[in-house]
Amino acid sequence: RAAAQRRGSRPVAVAEGARGFDSLPDWRDSQRMKQVGALVGVATPFFRRHEGRAGAVTCIDGRAVVNFASYDYCGLNADPRVAEAAKAAIDLYGVSPSGSRLVAGCRPVHDALEQALARHYEAEAALTFVSGHSTNVSTIAQVIGEGDLILHDALCHNSILVGVKLSGAARRSFPHNDLAALEALLTENRGLYRNALIVTEGLFSMDGDVPPLAGLIALKRRFGCWLMVDDAHAMGCVGARGRGSFEAAGVAPGEVDIWMGTLSKTLAATGGYIAGSSVLIEVLRDHAAGFVYSVALAPALAAAAECALGLLTEEPERVSRLQANAAAFLAAARAAGLETGSAGPYGIVPVMVGDSLLAAKLSERLLSRGINVMPVMFPAVPMQSARLRFFLSAQHEAEQIVAAVTATADEMDSLRREGFGSAIPPA
Ligand code: PMP
Repeated sequence: RAAAQRRGSRPVAVAEGARGFDSLPDWRDSQRMKQVGALVGVATPFFRRHEGRAGAVTCIDGRAVVNFASYDYCGLNADPRVAEAAKAAIDLYGVSPSGSRLVAGCRPVHDALEQALARHYEAEAALTFVSGHSTNVSTIAQVIGEGDLILHDALCHNSILVGVKLSGAARRSFPHNDLAALEALLTENRGLYRNALIVTEGLFSMDGDVPPLAGLIALKRRFGCWLMVDDAHAMGCVGARGRGSFEAAGVAPGEVDIWMGTLSKTLAATGGYIAGSSVLIEVLRDHAAGFVYSVALAPALAAAAECALGLLTEEPERVSRLQANAAAFLAAARAAGLETGSAGPYGIVPVMVGDSLLAAKLSERLLSRGINVMPVMFPAVPMQSARLRFFLSAQHEAEQIVAAVTATADEMDSLRREGFGSAIPPA
């Protein structure tokens, strides 16, 4: 009751029946955001409908626009060989696996993909899940629990934070990529807990930078912790051959205890995976809720991802093109006076804006100039840290990159000169 009162709710007499969903604070929050948007003339930038394949160019409202909103980093979603692999799997196995892996969902394509992923990480085994989000939630909640400690980078993805919350472990977040702060937290806390798990990302999804992996490995060894790296965005973007954060850091992948990744980005499918020791994989296979109680990955997606992983290895020039495009974008943005934070030349470059509505308005103006890029705003990033997030692709042309940067700098200037944002009432 006390907790309910703190949340501003009140106990309901049974006779009153259930309250409407419009009594939820989340409803009020989204309405307030929409009202403020309408007041200053900004439509919601989200849920734009792409009318075909969203590559470096996409079709929105019947119009071809240059696309920086999709994370098909190496252009493999457009590769006919990947589509053929998916179609062949549908012909062989049907669209749905019609069961969980334990019951009726195992197909040879799952084994092929999991073996390929295990080889990629030089790991003993790998396991696939139906989504990257549930991979993080289920894995973290399974390997760590009450009496344990979890230390995660402050900028870790929502799926990591949800897993942490569900696990019941004590939680400490360390400032982004700050090894000294992590060391201090470990010195103070490690002895108080049974197991400790450090979690970071291989390429940060909002900032486009990479972690100090060698330093994290040294700390996890010194303090007797497990290290988990979410390489969802790093695969295909980071390292000379796009193998991921271990390649860029020059460390053996076996130094990381839990590799997590998604099939939804470079690997041109959807789903998630874990790679690690055979003991870890057996624990997850027998117990992780998002695996045991969920349907198997669709065979077509497993086949597509396996094909994409093979192509990534055979055609490293895709990675070089992507990284050259990211470097060109960064150089042009800096020359135009745009703030790109700590982003490196990988696949994600944020252009910092600050105010959420200004970021949404910029996105709207850029779309009208033929450029599709999404704003990222609170709560996905801290307050007043809204940004436009550009996903680069191996398929972007040099002129498209220059045009996007020029238009962004122009529109940012115009909106500031118009005084946009100064009249926005606080939320
Ligand atoms: N980890 C990170 C770092 C992510 O950015 C995302 C979402 N894009 C996920 C996990 C979840 O993966 P998925 O969207 O494939 O479920």
